[in-house]
Amino acid sequence: MDNILEKKLNKVELIKLRKDGLELIKEINQYASQGYNSISKEEIELLKWLGLYEQNSKDGHFLFRVRIPSGIMTSEQARVLAQISKEYGRNQVELTTRQCIQFHWVRVENMPKILEQLDSVGLSSFEACGDCPRNITGNPLAGIDHHELFDTRKIVDEVEKYFILNKEFSNLPRKFKISISANMYNSGYAELNDLAFTPAIKHLADKKVIGFHVWVGGGLSHSPKLAKRLNLFVTPKNVLKVAKGVCTIFRDYGYRTYRSKARLKYLVEDWGIERFEKVLINLIGETPKLGEDKILGYDLKTFTGIYPQKQSGLYYLGLTIPNGRMASSELKKLASIADRFGNSTIRLTISKDVLITHVRKNMLNDLFEHDVIERYLERASFNNYAVNCTGKEFCSKAIVRTKPWMQAITRHLDGQFLDKLPIRLHMSGCPSSCGQTQIADIGLQGTVIKTENGPREAFEIFIGGNLGQEASLAQRLEGRIPGEFTPLLIEKFINLYFSLRNNSESFYQCIKRVGTTPFQNKQNEVLALGNTQISSKNDEINKVI
Ligand code: SF4
Repeated sequence: MDNILEKKLNKVELIKLRKDGLELIKEINQYASQGYNSISKEEIELLKWLGLYEQNSKDGHFLFRVRIPSGIMTSEQARVLAQISKEYGRNQVELTTRQCIQFHWVRVENMPKILEQLDSVGLSSFEACGDCPRNITGNPLAGIDHHELFDTRKIVDEVEKYFILNKEFSNLPRKFKISISANMYNSGYAELNDLAFTPAIKHLADKKVIGFHVWVGGGLSHSPKLAKRLNLFVTPKNVLKVAKGVCTIFRDYGYRTYRSKARLKYLVEDWGIERFEKVLINLIGETPKLGEDKILGYDLKTFTGIYPQKQSGLYYLGLTIPNGRMASSELKKLASIADRFGNSTIRLTISKDVLITHVRKNMLNDLFEHDVIERYLERASFNNYAVNCTGKEFCSKAIVRTKPWMQAITRHLDGQFLDKLPIRLHMSGCPSSCGQTQIADIGLQGTVIKTENGPREAFEIFIGGNLGQEASLAQRLEGRIPGEFTPLLIEKFINLYFSLRNNSESFYQCIKRVGTTPFQNKQNEVLALGNTQISSKNDEINKVI
């Protein structure tokens, strides 16, 4: 590599040039025996390819993520994950917005044993983090869904197997997120991905063919973008070919100079969708043009509850896990429940719910005997529509804590507004937006306010996000709101929405019609109330912060 080219590469690119992230897999035993202090900063960066992110304490503890394609795992796999959490992760199990499971407090010294345990049940953490194809998200109800055009499990499996540990694609400019779902209400959150496949139908040679439309260049974080649809119709057997093509374009043409501009969305934006499509067709060959789109909307519904499957007489049970975090013992119990009442499968949704499937009607009542079911099923709560990221507790990029603030908000709202659901709240601890702030009805993004007494945790507020046919990013309001003000602010927003809305207009539709000004004015009013009045109105905060 000549010096001129090296000068153009960001520092992570230079690290990857010296060593591919996947190389660390064979070196993990050595790191484990020599311990955390023997690992260089460069190697810590590359440990992401094994699913490890250094925790913000920088004291040898790591966040550790495991891939669960489409969020579907067996009860046996769930038991192993519960055991890993118990032995190495201080009993915490965290669900992610990419249908993965992650742990905290993991040490490199324990990685050989952990990898062995994962491998014994066909699970992997490889490339769950890092600049590579990440866990493939999809329809958590694949195969049992009344609203799916067809079952996508085999397709997800094929694409997952192709990309994982594939050195041709293990050094991308940045992470690469794929979603494959044939659910007609966008359960794969297509627009948020670098590459997404959504259900479609086309008549080819006088035959009605089921398949996908293809979307590229989505991603939140800085400069959020919703993915754009290509003028293509892809049959299920050609999904992998398209995925390889798009990933090849990203690898070969994606930007490697500024890390903040490296995601595929920047290339798509610069090239435009027509040029992107042309380059893709050159790689994969002629492909039929768009068919009939079968995305009918975006379903805001909670998964909490009991719902019939498409198989007659069978039901699935949806549990919302508040803050996306449960104990290892709870996951273990759920695995046993899935064995006894279901088909030994546990599924995870993008909105951090857990599903137990294939339960017979005559067994539904018996499920309530189990404390873990009782705890998480059927309780109307804003938690059922709330998503947040890890936040400052563990994440080194975080500006604020998320889980305690979200807990304060949902407790406050549950006390008065349960009849006003669904309203979706999303929170991220920094602009990286892992909590998907910009697709919320009301999104909160962590920031700080400088005060005489030092920095104070605060939020920027986004309103009116949506996905599906009317996809739209939430709009940011001016100003920063101290965390203590947020429960009252959201209470006022909900009251305002109900006073403004026409008939059954959703939060998004209401904002689209009236604009953000009434909400901006309300936010300014709340800020003007001042600290004393706010804190006296929000006892919930003192309980959790
Ligand atoms: S949004 Fe920021 S704080 Fe939250 S998990 Fe992502 S990087 Fe960390």
